[in-house]
Amino acid sequence: MKVLKLSAQGLPQSWITLEQAVIHYAADDVRWEAGAQIAVFRGGHNAITGLQSIITVNSIIGTRGVPNISPFSLRPGLTNGKLFARDRNICAYCGGLFSELELTREHIIPFAQQGVDTWMNVVTACRSCNHRKSSRTPEQAKMPLLFTPYVPSLWEDFILRNRRILADQMEFLTAHLPKNSRLSAQALLND
Ligand SMILES: [Zn+2]
Repeated sequence: MKVLKLSAQGLPQSWITLEQAVIHYAADDVRWEAGAQIAVFRGGHNAITGLQSIITVNSIIGTRGVPNISPFSLRPGLTNGKLFARDRNICAYCGGLFSELELTREHIIPFAQQGVDTWMNVVTACRSCNHRKSSRTPEQAKMPLLFTPYVPSLWEDFILRNRRILADQMEFLTAHLPKNSRLSAQALLND
């Protein structure tokens, strides 16, 4: 279970562990909370009052400090995990749904023809389609793409980075997605 950490202004910063969240609370860095309370940590007893210190952690927190991610400069890093999540584990050539182990990062314009390793030139493909297409373009291989690639937005990137997002965190993130996003709440419900 991860906590969605945002800047005080509400821009996503990172997924952090409950323990990391507690440190933000203890340091009085938390400016606001959203979502539900997901954990309670009990500390020591105050020597004078005898009261036990308690920190409750919410699923979404806004923290003090200078944001380290700008939504305008960010180009999300490309990983196989995020790529497969972007394409919902569906092969772009045969349309089959596969487990991650059976999937590959497929370069639409192959390296052999000066293709590059960027979000816009990669799709998810099953091993057999990747093998069949080989070092050809979709046109040359007569294997048309069933869907087009895209560069995830900052908000989409945060969805792609975490496979176990809590319902209230998902609601918060999807509220910022464009209507045509493949990661929209409706699309995810149909999974
Ligand atoms: Zn396939």
